[in-house]
Amino acid sequence: MTQRGAAPFIAGALGRCPNCGEGRLFTGFLTVSPRCAKCGFDLAKADSGDGPAVFVIFIAGFIAAFGLLFTEIVYRPPLWLEGVIWLPVAAVLCLGLLRPLKGLMIAAQFANKASQAGRDDV
Ligand SMILES: [Zn+2]
Repeated sequence: MTQRGAAPFIAGALGRCPNCGEGRLFTGFLTVSPRCAKCGFDLAKADSGDGPAVFVIFIAGFIAAFGLLFTEIVYRPPLWLEGVIWLPVAAVLCLGLLRPLKGLMIAAQFANKASQAGRDDV
């Protein structure tokens, strides 16, 4: 069973196998399973490289930098308060986005038949 359309992307973002949508994609926080436990799909060949980190930097960096500038311009709080607010926000955003974006990029490799994704119908 191979998923089509947007289903691999949704499965990947939710941390599930892009091939069947049921098996777990990760064994650890960011460690990809060598093989899907449900369908046996070879996940070891999937390598998203630095891709997820780049998107995390763009998204989290934009939100945190915009928030910092907005509060600085509108409320002018002390500098330590800006750090207390926006450093944890940036850390939580980065850690929270990393896993879904890594799953999404692995699913994109699978859906676009990238040679690294290990599809045998390429
Ligand atoms: Zn699977």
